[in-house]
Amino acid sequence: VTTLRNRNVALFGLGGSGLATAQALVEGGANVTAWDDNPDSVAKAAAAGIPTADLHQIDWSGISSFVLSPGVPLTHPKPHWSVDLARAAGVEIVGDVELFVRERRAHAPDSPFIAITGTNGKSTTTALIAHVLKASGRDTQLGGNIGTAVLTLDPPKAGRFYVVECSSYQIDLSPTIDPTAGILLNLTPDHLDRHGTMQHYADIKERLVAGSDTAIVAVDDSFTALIADRIERSGTKVVRVSRRQPLADGLYAEGGHILLAHGGTSRPIADLSDIQTLRGGHNAQNAAAAIAACLAVGLSEDEIRRGLASFPGLKHRMQPVGRKGHVVFVNDSKATNADAAAPALSSYDRIYWIAGGLPKEGGITSLSGFFPKIAKAYLIGEAAAAFAATLGEQVPYEISSTLERAVAHAATDAAGDARGPVAVLLSPACASFDQYKNFEIRGDAFVGHVAAVAGVEMLIE
Ligand code: ADP
Repeated sequence: VTTLRNRNVALFGLGGSGLATAQALVEGGANVTAWDDNPDSVAKAAAAGIPTADLHQIDWSGISSFVLSPGVPLTHPKPHWSVDLARAAGVEIVGDVELFVRERRAHAPDSPFIAITGTNGKSTTTALIAHVLKASGRDTQLGGNIGTAVLTLDPPKAGRFYVVECSSYQIDLSPTIDPTAGILLNLTPDHLDRHGTMQHYADIKERLVAGSDTAIVAVDDSFTALIADRIERSGTKVVRVSRRQPLADGLYAEGGHILLAHGGTSRPIADLSDIQTLRGGHNAQNAAAAIAACLAVGLSEDEIRRGLASFPGLKHRMQPVGRKGHVVFVNDSKATNADAAAPALSSYDRIYWIAGGLPKEGGITSLSGFFPKIAKAYLIGEAAAAFAATLGEQVPYEISSTLERAVAHAATDAAGDARGPVAVLLSPACASFDQYKNFEIRGDAFVGHVAAVAGVEMLIE
């Protein structure tokens, strides 16, 4: 980034994205002073050539911007000490996304910029849009909360498309965010530990769509529906999408299709029913929003349909990884609590369910509505006994203990199920830490065990 060339910049937070941001600023000619409460992170940054100093010790009077990592508390439960210092000195507090939007405005204001937020589905929608753009041959940059720090992307230029996932923290730190198309998927209570009230959380998310040329809002919950009305009244162009209700104008899901409605008439624009990676009502919401965004930045309907059909899905999130006859093997390792497991359980009709790990409060009682669809459960990890007690007489189960045994047994049982399409689903409703370092490693282990099933055809590389 060159917008802060020769300026004095203080930066706090040297985790993955913070370090990448510091590097991009140094390369762009800013005079950076970086710090972190973790001495190891400071040492790592210093070794990478980033000037470091305790921000208590620096002269704040010459600092023009304070760059904060999105993981560091800005307001709740109380501001981080570095935030207090910056405020006392009257220095603006921004995040990497804000630096990116300024860079884009300065150098390539016409480069299409799609920003995605919401409580759930951000990564899926972001990846889906980037995939559709890439499949159509567009020069596409994918980053933000999904993994790649935005300032490490190729720099803005005409004809280059940006797809950026934004957490509420990143929006909070980007006062002038102005996407070509901004998406708000849904708003449910989450992260209130850091934002205080639901209203404050909603206000932050609203700013992303309010600042967009085209605001795409999924109106399936009361907060987002109100936001759509409000920003439309203040003059923003709004495209509504819905996973469940027909709309007079906008895009909505019905019978496995996404319909495009205008002036009271509607027609199908995409058929999702055969796309394994876009199953379930939640994915209909994600797909409708993605289609709206792709239309807003000028893709043709054919380009969009082709891209949707070849979407490989996101790793560890309801991802079909293998197939053997009528059995599909699905990796949903990301589902680390009962709520997160619900979409996968609702998306398949007959399920051989692998669950367990390190249990969370409440267990799986909230999932009892899905129990009739579960042909058998294979319980692993520390939660096995408690989950077995919840399943009780309603659902056949075994204590498999290990994931390896669970996959082997589920594969055999599912292969012998004559009732038609079935899923062997890892959607553990638990954290992984009792048996794995994290959910990604658990998901990779699942894929490895699936690949070992005789006669399986793998659907991923
Ligand atoms: P995020 O990036 O917002 O955390 P992801 O796309 O990674 O969301 O999806 C995480 C999980 O959230 C998925 O496995 C699925 O269970 C659920 N999910 C995905 N999309 C939606 C949606 N539109 N509404 C509700 N839940 C969703």
